[in-house]
Amino acid sequence: MSALPRRCQVVVVGAGYAGLATAIELREAGVDVVVLEAADRVGGRIWSERRDGVVVDHGGQWVGPTQTRLLAWAERFGCPTFQSYDVGRHVEIWADGTTYPFTSDQHSEGPGVEDYERLEGRLDALAATIDLADPLACSSLEEWDSQTVHSWVDAHVDSPAARRRLALAVQGVWSCEPRDLSMFHLLFYVAGAGGMRSLMETIGYAQDSRFVDGAQAPALAAAASLGGRVHVRTPVSAIRQGDDAVTVETARGNVRADRVVVTSAPAATSHIEFEPALPTSRRRWLASSVMGDVAKVHLRYDSPFWREDGLSGQMVAYDAQPVGVVFDNSPDDGSRGVLVCFTYGDRYRTFAALDPGERRTAVLDVLGRVFGPQAMQPLDYVEQLWPEDRWAEGGYAAVPVPGAWLEHARDGWRTPCGRVHWAGTETATVWNGYMDGAIRSGERAAAEVTAALAAESPGAVR
Ligand SMILES: Cc1cc2nc3c(=O)[nH]c(=O)nc-3n(C[C@H](O)[C@H](O)[C@H](O)COP(=O)(O)OP(=O)(O)OC[C@H]3O[C@@H](n4cnc5c(N)ncnc54)[C@H](O)[C@@H]3O)c2cc1C
Repeated sequence: MSALPRRCQVVVVGAGYAGLATAIELREAGVDVVVLEAADRVGGRIWSERRDGVVVDHGGQWVGPTQTRLLAWAERFGCPTFQSYDVGRHVEIWADGTTYPFTSDQHSEGPGVEDYERLEGRLDALAATIDLADPLACSSLEEWDSQTVHSWVDAHVDSPAARRRLALAVQGVWSCEPRDLSMFHLLFYVAGAGGMRSLMETIGYAQDSRFVDGAQAPALAAAASLGGRVHVRTPVSAIRQGDDAVTVETARGNVRADRVVVTSAPAATSHIEFEPALPTSRRRWLASSVMGDVAKVHLRYDSPFWREDGLSGQMVAYDAQPVGVVFDNSPDDGSRGVLVCFTYGDRYRTFAALDPGERRTAVLDVLGRVFGPQAMQPLDYVEQLWPEDRWAEGGYAAVPVPGAWLEHARDGWRTPCGRVHWAGTETATVWNGYMDGAIRSGERAAAEVTAALAAESPGAVR
């Protein structure tokens, strides 16, 4: 492990996509930057593991066509992508065991589909009234941030089945329950993604493609391009601001810098000591930004046998079943079969309370009901419970509790605190909660820092 420098212009805390993007932008502006990462790897909530020759993305995995900053990284760092497998019948299964087939082009004949479609259109129309350049200027901020999605749906949606469909959408996209989610945050997020379909659908939308070598590949390449400037196994414990510099403390030594950019997820940031203490609005915002609860389970088979039966591998399970959504996560060439299962919100809590053997049985049971007995004989079973991850404490992203946008965001969301600046996907407007948003947030923070450095000392940046 190389020694930490004693002095640099900017310290970046965290080497996820946001931290790496911040550092790359700063390097390009000629700034002397050091990245301090707590974990023993870069990538943060993106972690690709090769298991028996097959890439498994334990965290984020998909990239869609409007996620242009992530796609630009894929091109820049030579990381090929391939389209998600979307051929054949998907299956939705309800708690009573009823199943309905559907495809990406043809809706299911299950209950509440038309009402749900109208509901999506209505959410899109409301989201379109939020100006992403200044979301807090939204004239309905108080009305929407005072309600949960649950209470809004209670008042506006009659169809019980459409409500259950929206509950599954909320779990799938925000990894929480409708009762946890502010109506304003939902609409802000929809606006930043370009619509509900954009968040929910596969080809042409957020789940369009995957990385051949896993979603961590661009992060690994970005870190390599920064050379010795990235230091892993270096948790930051304290950030102390003086009149003319900041001291960043770690167990491996302290680094003094002109500015610091903190990119850790809100829960992780709350464990760092700040001196002087952060302003109340920032502390309240961090405390109100609750990480989602999600686990991903991968199962590997000799081949994607479900394809022979005309099944796409995509499955949606309503209500309290142990998994919510299943996708075919096989490698591009289909040389092996991989299913990935997501469990979130209330189901996550039930799932996590089981012992590992019971969890495996619960997952195999659901898969067996849709894909047959072969699905119950995987060659490999691996799960990742994100709330247990020491440095993320959950995922996909933080969900501000109702009222947080209204009460604390004006100064607490991402306003710099003296020499300390903020990035991370939670600070993005476009694709908030996604890798693309993380990169955009790093680019925004780097621009903020270079402007501040240039204002202090015109020769400090190129
Ligand atoms: C299960 C799951 C599925 C997802 N699916 C997708 C998807 O398909 N597509 C998509 O675009 N996004 C997806 N996401 C979301 C995506 O992973 C995140 O939006 C993105 O990775 C966040 O990047 P970030 O840099 O903002 O934060 P992080 O990745 O959390 O990076 C922050 C870094 O800070 C480090 N850190 C924390 N505390 C300290 C400290 N004290 N000192 C130093 N370092 C510290 C952490 O170790 C971490 O490396 C998913 C996430 C999860 C969990």
